Amino acid sequence: MPNHSRLAPAATRALGIVATGVLVASVLSIVPALERAHRADTTPATTTIALALPPAPAAAAAPVQDWRTVRVQAGQTLGSVFADLGLPASSMHRVLAVPEVDRLASRLRIGSELAFDIGPDGQLRGLRFDADETRRIEVAVDAGGVERRVIERPIEVRTVVAGGEIRSSLFADGARAGLSAAVMNGMVQALQFDIDFAQDLREGDTFQIVYEELWREGERLRDGGVVAVNFTNQGRTFTALRFERDGHREFFDPDGRPLRRSFLRTPIEFARVTSGFGARRHPVLNRMRMHRGVDYAAPTGTPIFAAGDGRVKFAGWQSGFGRTVILDHGNGITTLYAHMSRLGPYRVGQRVRQGTTIGFVGMSGLATGPHLHYEFRVRGVHKDPLRVTLPKPEPLQGPALAEFRRATAPVLAQLERIEGVQLAGR
Ligand SMILES: [Zn+2]
Repeated sequence: MPNHSRLAPAATRALGIVATGVLVASVLSIVPALERAHRADTTPATTTIALALPPAPAAAAAPVQDWRTVRVQAGQTLGSVFADLGLPASSMHRVLAVPEVDRLASRLRIGSELAFDIGPDGQLRGLRFDADETRRIEVAVDAGGVERRVIERPIEVRTVVAGGEIRSSLFADGARAGLSAAVMNGMVQALQFDIDFAQDLREGDTFQIVYEELWREGERLRDGGVVAVNFTNQGRTFTALRFERDGHREFFDPDGRPLRRSFLRTPIEFARVTSGFGARRHPVLNRMRMHRGVDYAAPTGTPIFAAGDGRVKFAGWQSGFGRTVILDHGNGITTLYAHMSRLGPYRVGQRVRQGTTIGFVGMSGLATGPHLHYEFRVRGVHKDPLRVTLPKPEPLQGPALAEFRRATAPVLAQLERIEGVQLAGR
């Protein structure tokens, strides 16, 4: 079983192998700083207020402000910041009436910036800080009391296109193309079911990628998600296009087929098979018996994943199986997970997505050690989970397919354009 049929985290970890040099080659050539063109997807932020600078005077009569910015040092508390500025403790107690200030005081982070407006008399007139990524709080203090103002700082999502060629390793070549490890991981996750990035990469493979960057007030915060990727691996091109269905973002091929598999072959990571499917002597009962599932040994507490999308059919205690979850995946398919130490937070009837943690490995019921007993049934008949032919995921159809084509056409065109630039540069 190729390990890329596992869950995303496993594939991501497998990537470390690539980074440490499965692909050893000499020269590195990335399409020169290709196409790091930015295109704003949303209306740019309209509020622009630099922390250290005073806001534009609201009225002619507004008093002159004198903002001082303080960067929080290790060991400092809000009280000590006030004290260092010569501000009386009473002024801090007044602003603590504002819930965001109260939260700030209890979770003051090293390196965060606070701006103080201090009057000529040494009294606090204002305090300004970022409550979170999108909200700046300004507290005005006067004899009458405190007044709180929230300044929204919307995050702008920009899409970025880039292209690269594999010369040494995925991460090194990605870095040369200006791509962060987070973006490269996103690419690997999008294509993990089609390409084994730990084994299959070859020198000369090429990729084109469209991903998001998050910006605020003209400042780049961090990378966002991967929107689309083309990867040509050993002459075969794989394409992943992001599309939102039922509130979930998924990757599809250009024909609208989901890239992820309908079932994980193994619903647990880093576990070894200790007992396969078929007749065996039962370890506790010491009688020959049909073993109707697969046992995976793993430490107590190891998460167990839903093998596919489905509905919880049973979650509770079963004689022999101990704490057990049964999922109904439709089309007559059910999966069973037994001997859990703890059940996940899902009740009977609730829907779960593939990869959701539905419980944790244990040895409840009849078990000699912590393991997962996993069963796969088709219309009530037990199948070998390691050999059963897993159904293909349903492609998008009808209006959903039409919407998919409409939504992904622009990004497909972008991928093609980058590829054209890359080919021209060879
Ligand atoms: Zn078993």
